[in-house]
Amino acid sequence: MLIVSACLAGINCKYNGGSSTNLKVRELVSRGEAIPVCPEQLGGCPTPRPAAEIFNSTGADVLDGTGKIKRINGEDAAPEFIKGAEEVLNIARLAGCSKAILKSKSPSCGCGNIYDGTFSGKLVPGNGVTAELLLRNGIEVLTENDI
Ligand code: SF4
Repeated sequence: MLIVSACLAGINCKYNGGSSTNLKVRELVSRGEAIPVCPEQLGGCPTPRPAAEIFNSTGADVLDGTGKIKRINGEDAAPEFIKGAEEVLNIARLAGCSKAILKSKSPSCGCGNIYDGTFSGKLVPGNGVTAELLLRNGIEVLTENDI
C-alpha cells in the first residue's frame, strides 16, 4: 500500500481549491493500491487557504524548530504543517505503507526541491515537512515526476 498526495489523485484540496491530478496516481487509488492524504487539511488548514511557503529554511528545519513557514498574508503556518505531517505518518503506519508518492515542490509534500519562500516560483534544495518526516521514519518518498 502506498501513501499519495490527495491533490495528485484529483481531490480538490490545494490552497486554491483545485487539484493537481495525475492519472497514474488516480489509477493507483482507484485500484485500491494507494491512500490519498492531504497533510495540510489533516493539520487543520481550511480549503481554500492563503498560499504558504517554507521561508529561508527547509522542512527539516521546521521539524527541528528552527525553520519558518509563512503564509502569503504573513501568518505562521508551522503548527498546522507539523500536525499534518504527524497525521500522515500515523496513517502510513496504520496501513503499513513503506512508500509514498507526494506532490513535488510543495512546502508539505515536496521532496528534493521546494519553493524558496518568496512566492516567486523559485526552487531551493530541500524537502517539505511531511516528506521529511516520512523519510526520517524509513518511508521511501517519490514525487509524481518519478513514476
Ligand atoms: S498539502 Fe500535499 S496533498 Fe495537500 S494540497 Fe498540498 S501538495 Fe497536495
